[in-house]
Amino acid sequence: MDRIFVPAKAREIVPRMLTYGHVFDGETAVDEVLAVFMPAPATYTAEDVVEINCHGGSIPLYRTLKLAMKYGARPAEPGEFTKRAFLNGRIDLSQAEAVMDVVGAKTEEALEIAVSRLRGKFSEEIGSLRKALTDVLVKIDVNIDYPDEDVEEAVASEIREELVKINDSIGELIASANTGRIMKEGLKTAIVGRPNVGKSSLLNGLLRESRAIVTAIPGTTRDTIEEFANIGGIPVRLTDTAGIRETEDVVEKIGIERAREAAEDADLVLFLIDSSEPLTGGDLSILKSLDPANTVILFNKSDLEAALTPEEMDAFGKGFRCVRTAFTSKDSIRAVEDIIRNFCVFGTTAETPENVENAGVSGGMPIRSGRIVTDARHLAMLQNASRAIDESIMSLDRGEPFELVEIDLREAYESLGFITGDSVQDDILKEIFGRFCLGK
Ligand code: GDP
Repeated sequence: MDRIFVPAKAREIVPRMLTYGHVFDGETAVDEVLAVFMPAPATYTAEDVVEINCHGGSIPLYRTLKLAMKYGARPAEPGEFTKRAFLNGRIDLSQAEAVMDVVGAKTEEALEIAVSRLRGKFSEEIGSLRKALTDVLVKIDVNIDYPDEDVEEAVASEIREELVKINDSIGELIASANTGRIMKEGLKTAIVGRPNVGKSSLLNGLLRESRAIVTAIPGTTRDTIEEFANIGGIPVRLTDTAGIRETEDVVEKIGIERAREAAEDADLVLFLIDSSEPLTGGDLSILKSLDPANTVILFNKSDLEAALTPEEMDAFGKGFRCVRTAFTSKDSIRAVEDIIRNFCVFGTTAETPENVENAGVSGGMPIRSGRIVTDARHLAMLQNASRAIDESIMSLDRGEPFELVEIDLREAYESLGFITGDSVQDDILKEIFGRFCLGK
């Protein structure tokens, strides 16, 4: 910074204070800037950091960067700042990963979860589980060679009780993973049905009613577009299969195939039927590929004269949750929003979810943000830990020696450590930080 930055009016550079001045390339002023020097360790990476705030144009930026590099700087790798923060011990691995979730958050609720994780709430949770396991391991170590069998039995039942408690907590975290994944990646929702049944009307209705279309990303096929709608804080990824229209009178088969593919990949399927028209073989073929657990049948155009009798609808939709809709009205769009929200929160297509209490939910989003798993890697580690603890409990039940119990518990302890990065290998770090965007 000394080499390229000249403070105005010979001002002194005071740590952590913005200083006004110019970037100079020899005698030539390149840009008017604000610069700051932040000494270690209270910085993002926990190292000395210099920031120069340039004007935003690409030429002044380019020249300032080029100049910095001339004096020994180099561009950061993706995620390098955050990786350094982790390696220098300012944050743990789960917090580092949360940085990407903060950047990629699609709704305010998703952001809340990510920020809470960044602040270390999730790490605390994992830390306390590890602490509980340590306590058990200590107890085992103390008693491992104890000659008195009665004492050993008493200790075994005590340990068992504690392990069950720990595993219950891990189980709760595992159970939150589905909601967590949805909050992070969006609920993949496929709208399927024959041409002209009202798919686009539903899609547009949902996008219009939802508070914000957060972003649009290209779908997997050329003529589908995925859009994010924000439905009650849940990011919903809607696949627009508008391309189907083109094949409308060409081959119905393609439409059916598309519907199948979309459904296969989706968390939730909304299957539309035009109830003002007789059912077709196409409707039946689509139906056959759908699963009642994640499909809702919408008998649409219920404002028109029905071609289907209630009995026909019942017979067709047997086993499925069925709703009559008319996407000419906003009420029907809201009804679908409720279906989507319920599905995300309760994991069921049913109207009134059973066991609301058991789901730990009293309405609204079930988010205690410190206790939600959003990362597939964390989920895998939690499952490992849980399995190992199960093994150790079974060893206890079989009256096996404490040494065997201990092996499983150490594995569980290690697995949890992978989440926070207390034990982690280089190649995993490389992969995690490789996913970051530049400059983070
Ligand atoms: P898609 O081909 O499945 O995407 O169907 P569209 O959403 O384009 O709908 C086809 C036609 O049906 C359009 O003219 C819509 O306005 C109309 N439509 C959609 N839903 C309803 C409904 O519930 N009632 C009535 N009367 N018309 C509807």
